Amino acid sequence: MSFVFPPFPTVAVPVVGQTATFPVHRVYCVGRNYEDHAKEMGFTGREPPFFFMKPADAVVVVPAGQTGSMPYPSLTKNLHHEIELVVAIGTGGKNIAAADAHKHIFGYAVGLDMTRRDLQGEMKKQGRPWCIGKGFDQSAPIGPITPKAQAGDAENAEIWLQVNGEDRQRSNVSKLIWNIAETIEHLSAAWELQPGDLIYSGTPEGVNAVVAGDTLRGGVTGLEGLTVRIAG
Ligand code: MN
Repeated sequence: MSFVFPPFPTVAVPVVGQTATFPVHRVYCVGRNYEDHAKEMGFTGREPPFFFMKPADAVVVVPAGQTGSMPYPSLTKNLHHEIELVVAIGTGGKNIAAADAHKHIFGYAVGLDMTRRDLQGEMKKQGRPWCIGKGFDQSAPIGPITPKAQAGDAENAEIWLQVNGEDRQRSNVSKLIWNIAETIEHLSAAWELQPGDLIYSGTPEGVNAVVAGDTLRGGVTGLEGLTVRIAG
């Protein structure tokens, strides 16, 4: 097959313990999925899970032991960090029951759902899509994917983020309002999941601003960590 120009290369995330990489298909994100984060954003109560997407090429791949780099994005004066457990789908499907969901998981990684909070807030106020606040270029840093057999109990693990060595977010993935299996059930009712899909599962409380020059270091117990520096 020939193309009128070279196709954009597939984003490939390293896999712990393997030379083969994980080719990214889509990036789904869950909104307000920890109670104390929902509260800090001004919401209370358990609402049905809701989703937004980032472009696959917004993923910033950070290999193990390295410090990745993302530029401070345009248009914003309030770039927020959201540390999240990322679920990597290995087997696709639609209408997946929660009881079957784990069969579809390839592994887990640590990710950052970087957010232009001021733009997201403006869009919320006007009832407009969040894309400009959430789906911007290089908005989805991710560390290596750990296959689920080696990942320990990632869904009941501590999750944290430090900025310049100081704690900003620290919680436990067990506090997800909609757990990973329930999230996959809801998501796969709306879209047919495919191998290569990533699901950013939501962030705990403590989201806040970062500026150029800051170094973000995040982790989930049992997984490779993620370090990213905000470039100027
Ligand atoms: Mn998020």
